[in-house]
Amino acid sequence: MPCIICTTTTNLGYMKRIVILTGAGISAESGIATFRGSGGLWNNYRIEDVASPNAWRRNPRLVLAFYNQRRADAAKAQPNAAHKALCELETHYQVHVITQNVDDLHERAGTTDVWHLHGKLREARSSDYPNLIYDIGAKPINLGDVCSKGSQLRPNIVWFGEEVPAISRAASLSAAADIFVVIGTSMQVYPAASLINYVPITTPKYIIDPHIPNLPAFRNIHAMQGKASVIVPQLVQQLLDAVQKKS
Ligand code: NAD
Repeated sequence: MPCIICTTTTNLGYMKRIVILTGAGISAESGIATFRGSGGLWNNYRIEDVASPNAWRRNPRLVLAFYNQRRADAAKAQPNAAHKALCELETHYQVHVITQNVDDLHERAGTTDVWHLHGKLREARSSDYPNLIYDIGAKPINLGDVCSKGSQLRPNIVWFGEEVPAISRAASLSAAADIFVVIGTSMQVYPAASLINYVPITTPKYIIDPHIPNLPAFRNIHAMQGKASVIVPQLVQQLLDAVQKKS
């Protein structure tokens, strides 16, 4: 009987577990701006003015307007070749995507297991009852929109300084990775950037980015420099070929 934590046995036999950590870079070619790419501004806003509990207290109207625009932009964007290629891995691997992105392009491309460390644009949640979460699609949240208990709705986004509820699950998945892939993240936002510390030393770690982040302390790093839409399909083909050669 296989251990349900570390292996899955299907009609294809043992499937290796691939854990993929993605950041804003994978959605850049879908037209969603990265954070560092715009000089530390996110669409001309300073992060502390729009993505922190202080900002919400100080100017909720501005925070809602910022996320309403991001939500509308993300709804118009389409998954690119990188999002789509990752789904193909599911034919021969157990695939877990851990994303820092708040868009839903992985899901719309067809990936089945996606963990959003920083929340989801398409969800609103109660500002007083964090378990009251609503799927709002592309709709805006306005001042005066309330949850079923009467409290103001806010974006279901993990702001700077807030807890990251999915991090313990993400750490367990990283610790059980047979292959770890990092795509389009500057590895400067914590705790997401610390997940690589949980990955076993012997696990191959593929890093895809036009500007490979400096990761000197890690073994088994394979840097693949370039844009996600070009490099991700190449890596996916390489990983699928490796399984087919074995079988
Ligand atoms: P970041 O902006 O800090 O880093 C982006 C990385 O993507 C950089 O290393 C850059 O070189 C790389 N990159 C740029 N174009 C690329 C391409 N075509 N292919 C592959 N890589 C490319 O992003 P981060 O590390 O994800 O951290 C930023 C924070 O801002 C996150 O917390 C995230 O929640 C938020 N954010 C999310 C989105 C989104 O949901 N799409 C967009 C912007 C910011």
